[in-house]
Amino acid sequence: MMSKIWLSPPHLCGEEMKYIQKAFDTNWIAPLGENIDEFESALKKELGTEKEVVCLSSGTAALHLSLILAGVSEGDVVVCQSLTFAASANPIIYQKAIPVFVDSEKDTYNISPIYLEKAIKSSMSKGKKPKAIVIVHLYGMPSKIEEIAAIAKKYDIILIEDGAESLGSSYKGKKCGTFGDFGVLSFNGNKIITTSGGGALICKNKTVKDRAIFLATQAKDETTHYQHSTIGYNYRMSNILAGIGRGQMEVLHQYISLRRSNHQFYKNLFQYIDEVQVLEEPCNNFFSNHWLSVITIDEKQTKFDRESLRIKLLEENIESKPLWKPMHLQPVFSSYPYYGTTVSESLFEKGLCLPSGSSLTDTDKERIANVIKDYFKVV
Ligand SMILES: *Cc1c(COP(=O)(O)O)cnc(C)c1O
Repeated sequence: MMSKIWLSPPHLCGEEMKYIQKAFDTNWIAPLGENIDEFESALKKELGTEKEVVCLSSGTAALHLSLILAGVSEGDVVVCQSLTFAASANPIIYQKAIPVFVDSEKDTYNISPIYLEKAIKSSMSKGKKPKAIVIVHLYGMPSKIEEIAAIAKKYDIILIEDGAESLGSSYKGKKCGTFGDFGVLSFNGNKIITTSGGGALICKNKTVKDRAIFLATQAKDETTHYQHSTIGYNYRMSNILAGIGRGQMEVLHQYISLRRSNHQFYKNLFQYIDEVQVLEEPCNNFFSNHWLSVITIDEKQTKFDRESLRIKLLEENIESKPLWKPMHLQPVFSSYPYYGTTVSESLFEKGLCLPSGSSLTDTDKERIANVIKDYFKVV
């Protein structure tokens, strides 16, 4: 059997060990230390923002803290993009709030500004103005963030950008994660850079950052004994893992280029396969890190479908995955409201994520191309 080609495996550059060693040498084996400070600075620089960055134990923790900082509590309505990973929505339930799911639009696969506004208006007509909006830049593709931010502003609702998949992506040159009141990053093993597990919160200023750190480190009052006036969390990043992140930041731009060239490879490959569409930036305002390259196969028009292609790839030990199953179709969220039509549902049915790692080799690409050409009977 040929070796496995993974969808998006971790890709270490070698510099990570240097920073981990430093943490060991100085005994900073704690959720604080130089690696965390330096990783936060590097992220802030990458984002090109005056905002602050707080390194946390996961992207999910960052989403949860952003809801807490937004004041979301029991019974509040939070509008959320339906086509996403469950981690975008789960923290809404942690807060005992009510998720209201919204469909995608076809250009970016991200939240539809039209249905977003419908969801807000409908919620308001029932006497419940949403407390927050969670939007996603899926697969690295920036959402229609200007329109979305304008809607959030118009109704004065807190905007949370789930940028777990979009580090390095930008809209009109401004980095994803810096448009909203809060931005979220993830450094899970499958993301564009990794700390094995980890995440970050992007927030407005030092005051909010201090509050986030306070909550993320068990909410200890300023007393010599252990006193607590607020419920706290253990959500801060370890200084060891931040060492991996520091090393990974040195190669982020290189990895973005590699992911973008994977995308170009798929564009070339599918150029003459009419049944397949590759997700592309709608115009020059959008810059995607192309974390994952995504295709859709129109099943109604052809004898081909994403599931048989997925199996065919798997038989050759190549991993591919369907798009995220929309939240409003998930058994655990099926009782919550949904605004939209069938865009996200149809993307789920037709869409496939192809191997997109920055460590993908030319030999890997050749293997992938051979299976795909064989499947579509291209010579
Ligand atoms: C990975 C991911 C998360 C969760 O991040 P973790 O660091 O794994 O907790 C949230 N949202 C989206 C869209 C993701 O892809």
